[in-house]
Amino acid sequence: MSGQVTEPADQSPTSVSMSDPSADGFFGQYGGRYVGEPLVRACQEIETAFREAWDDDDFRAEYLRLLTDYAGRPSPLTECANLGQDLGLRLLLKREDLNHTGSHKINNVIGQALLARRMGKTHLIAETGAGQHGVATATAAALFGMGCTVYMGEVDTKRQALNVFRMELLGATVIPVLSGSRTLKDAVNEAMRAWVSRLEDSHYCLGSVMGPHPFPWMVRTFQEILGAEANAQCQMLLGEMPNVAVACVGGGSNAAGLFAGFVEHPEVRLVGVEPAGGAAIGRGVPAVVHGMKAYFMQDEAGQVLEAESISAGLDYPGVGPEHSYLADAGRAEYHPVTDEMVVDAFQLLSRREGIIPALESAHAIAWVVENADELAGQTVIVNLSGRGDKDVSQVQELLQP
Ligand SMILES: *Cc1c(COP(=O)(O)O)cnc(C)c1O
Repeated sequence: MSGQVTEPADQSPTSVSMSDPSADGFFGQYGGRYVGEPLVRACQEIETAFREAWDDDDFRAEYLRLLTDYAGRPSPLTECANLGQDLGLRLLLKREDLNHTGSHKINNVIGQALLARRMGKTHLIAETGAGQHGVATATAAALFGMGCTVYMGEVDTKRQALNVFRMELLGATVIPVLSGSRTLKDAVNEAMRAWVSRLEDSHYCLGSVMGPHPFPWMVRTFQEILGAEANAQCQMLLGEMPNVAVACVGGGSNAAGLFAGFVEHPEVRLVGVEPAGGAAIGRGVPAVVHGMKAYFMQDEAGQVLEAESISAGLDYPGVGPEHSYLADAGRAEYHPVTDEMVVDAFQLLSRREGIIPALESAHAIAWVVENADELAGQTVIVNLSGRGDKDVSQVQELLQP
């Protein structure tokens, strides 16, 4: 943990920014690169390639062109007049649900696939929980003519069978992970193991702001586009900043993208919403897992606990290092919501606005609904990270058993 940077004690929360991590990948005391020697080298190569690519106008132009022509950016900002009136506040949605493949995941995947191609790699490896990141990665692999292997906990392959078939349609190989609890945490371990065994031709396309440096920083950078758009759209619509920016938090990539667009405005409250059964910041302690130091839910023996959430996409027992840092510094707040509140919010947005949200995104809506009294008269922007098509049958089983 050499080179660890400690937060100066006199720094006020509102002066905290989302700048680059330290040279060895720390945000305050969180982050780093806790992996074996072969992966240290692989991560260093990615870091070098990413720094060069991000400084290269042609790379950025190609990234923006694909996000525009292929993924459908910019995503709109939608004002929810009906639900806003019900709640007594002004509610704006950043519509990442309208992106190709149905969520914000594509922003990161297009960036990493372009980087992998630039590095001469011909194969993408990914982990997935609900399947959204696997589908996005399989999509980019198809577009770029690359091979693709997706690791998915066996439990999740059964819960999300349709997404498994979708990835296979796109040409990917889906490998069910039988170790541990057979969910996302185990899929990350297997994907890392697979990557070590074929470093020559493969890139590990990590799906959130987690893992060893440079992934948390690189993934946030690829997601910053949604926050930058949201900032400009708020300026256009409101002529000023919103009071609150809200996003759900699994690993934390959609929240990091949104927060990056507003963090320089100290008057904007940044709120991350965690599932009560996977509240890494609310219930976790700093630990080193999956190559990074960050908040993780653990038992007394230091074993990482299983996250339990209605949404497979938030079923991760940890949270990325930059969120761990923002939480400690007091710049962002993180609150839990229960599965019941989420199912209510899922139905509420569908009925009042004609928008069926992903269960993940319904967490952010649920927090706004729950805190409407406190937020009365304020302008709240919610990142609608994904669309709910994938969750409709799950909710039907809950409501019409
Ligand atoms: C994957 C996913 C999430 C959770 O991931 P983050 O990295 O926390 O953004 C949230 N919403 C949707 C729709 C997802 O697919």
